[in-house]
Amino acid sequence: MSSPVLELQGLTKTYGAFTALSDVSLSIQPGEIFALLGPNGAGKTTLIGSVCGLVKKTRGRILLFGKDLDQDAVGPRYDVGLVPQEINFDPFFSVAESLHIQLGFYGRPRDEARVDEVLTALNLQAKKNAITRALSGGMKRRLLIAKALVHKPKLVFLDEPTAGVDVELRRDLWTYVRKLASEGTTIVLTTHYLEEAEELADRVGVINEGRLLLVESKASVLRRFGEKRLVVTFEH
Ligand code: ATP
Repeated sequence: MSSPVLELQGLTKTYGAFTALSDVSLSIQPGEIFALLGPNGAGKTTLIGSVCGLVKKTRGRILLFGKDLDQDAVGPRYDVGLVPQEINFDPFFSVAESLHIQLGFYGRPRDEARVDEVLTALNLQAKKNAITRALSGGMKRRLLIAKALVHKPKLVFLDEPTAGVDVELRRDLWTYVRKLASEGTTIVLTTHYLEEAEELADRVGVINEGRLLLVESKASVLRRFGEKRLVVTFEH
């Protein structure tokens, strides 16, 4: 087996007396689509934030592309993309400018060809010069994804990418995620829906109350839970 893209060892995050992530250990392999499945407040965003540098972990080790983030907190993160749940672009910049600014954040020069490529891939080319405030909700979601990908990351986190989107956009996003993975990008996505994990993932991790309860192949998780939505199984 090749070395993992991401390895968490005993990752723990506490806020005062509250534990948001408890001793999570996990390895993500190159090129896989991994779905982290769990209800509201399970710790999914905290896990992603810890890897991306948005949340300061309390304990544990994070190895990204084989490098310990305690030794180098910046270098390995240049190869990571994050599609957050919430809009993170300036409402008054144009769509294209938002992507150039994002390239700048990652230390890359302006790149018209790359921006055009990403806009085309996400069906946003017609909105290239629109200010982002004027985009529809679905277009904003596409731009969030374009922003996360413009610097060609090797590992992409998608935090509930299809929450609140219509069926057509959901299908489009699923197709796009599969295409990215087929090109060698490693994908970690969070979701509340077993259906989404079933559509996309190679492996599924189930998280609740900060604990990673199991990590299994998709087939095995489906056998275990059948058609039931996991949100139902959490209500005990
Ligand atoms: P959702 O599906 O609703 O996005 P999630 O699985 O992503 O949920 P997190 O956002 O990681 O869950 O939150 C995990 C827990 O940590 C929640 O109970 C949340 O209220 C708590 N939490 C997150 N950030 C903070 C903070 N800054 N201070 C205190 N508690 C926090």
